Amino acid sequence: MEFLEFLNESVTPYHTVAGLKALLSQPAAGGLKLWERGGALIAVRMPKSPCADSKFRIALAHTDFPALKITPNPDCRAAGIQTLHPEIYGSPIYASWLDRDLGYAGILAYEACGKVETRVFRGGRLVRIPQLAVHMNRGVNQDGLKVNPQTDLNALWTSREGAKFVDALKKELPEGAELLDFDVQLFDAQPAHLGGLDDEWIYSGRLDNLSSCHAIATALACAPVPEKDFLVAAFFNNEEVGSETREGAAGNFLKSVLEEVAPDVDRNAVLSSSLALSIDMAHAEHPNFTQKHDQNHAPILGEGVVLKINSQKRYASDVFSNAQFKLLCKRAGVPYQTFVMRNDMPCGSTVGPAVSASLGIPTVDIGEPMLSMHSIREMTSVKDHGSMIKLVSGFFSL
Ligand SMILES: [Zn+2]
Repeated sequence: MEFLEFLNESVTPYHTVAGLKALLSQPAAGGLKLWERGGALIAVRMPKSPCADSKFRIALAHTDFPALKITPNPDCRAAGIQTLHPEIYGSPIYASWLDRDLGYAGILAYEACGKVETRVFRGGRLVRIPQLAVHMNRGVNQDGLKVNPQTDLNALWTSREGAKFVDALKKELPEGAELLDFDVQLFDAQPAHLGGLDDEWIYSGRLDNLSSCHAIATALACAPVPEKDFLVAAFFNNEEVGSETREGAAGNFLKSVLEEVAPDVDRNAVLSSSLALSIDMAHAEHPNFTQKHDQNHAPILGEGVVLKINSQKRYASDVFSNAQFKLLCKRAGVPYQTFVMRNDMPCGSTVGPAVSASLGIPTVDIGEPMLSMHSIREMTSVKDHGSMIKLVSGFFSL
């Protein structure tokens, strides 16, 4: 599957998992074992002959992104219009959701023959959250757009009076099935496309962190069968809300898979001499806001994979894993640049620290530089995405 197509298809974590499975089921990817847990997926390429000095080569990413989730009882009516009331998931830039064409998609749980079944779906209609006209919000350009997430983000769905959103969801089910529950979110319906004078950039929703998911899956699908090491790709859900879930990086998913694939190795010893690449997007320097970066650690779009360092340990990178990463870059011929957050601004985090702490595996936090992180529309560089695929491919074919 092409990258832009993957971005367009992956509109919820469940769809991301489906897209990753498609990437990983290419003929070149034979011999992969897959484990699925809702919106999370782990893929392992087993070695030819596992032995006492086998290692784990693990790449980590997350399948989720900030979104507006449809609440259990979403229907509201005002000004002759049925609206859908959302709940905030993660930390979106609220204003970026206004005046966009929004789709809705997710997973439905229903009863069939006394059992719970699920179906992943994508609705066929578009909704919208219109901005207030400038004439009714005169200070908007001077004071900035302020969005109250409780009152200002209801999505306009239909003018049909009395319409119930669950009735629209029921139409997605098999005939006669009873809807039990749903996990549905809004998404930017505009397709991804290339931009810039030389088509050097990618404009899309959800680049954080679909870009890293795509790079890892592409690299693993093409990796040769290893002699003795286990090649592992873990795609977690719920990173944007802290990872403390069954499908998240702080849960037991990865640990249980490693126990299953390598029952006969001394896992604690092996893990402490292995390496994990925690891959998530990084903040490129913004040409209009250069003061927001430490000038000695300001990654530039298109100039290579970013190594993320944080002394407060919001990133897992340390002297040991950083050194391994730099060696990997050298071997793969991939440029890298280093990011350190300004001391007067708080630093974000990734799945890296949770996995590194719980498994005891040296981990390095890296990512492609991007702009507009957590906006509904983000941008990254074609060149850096290529570098990331090259780097992870090198890691998986040592
Ligand atoms: Zn992310």
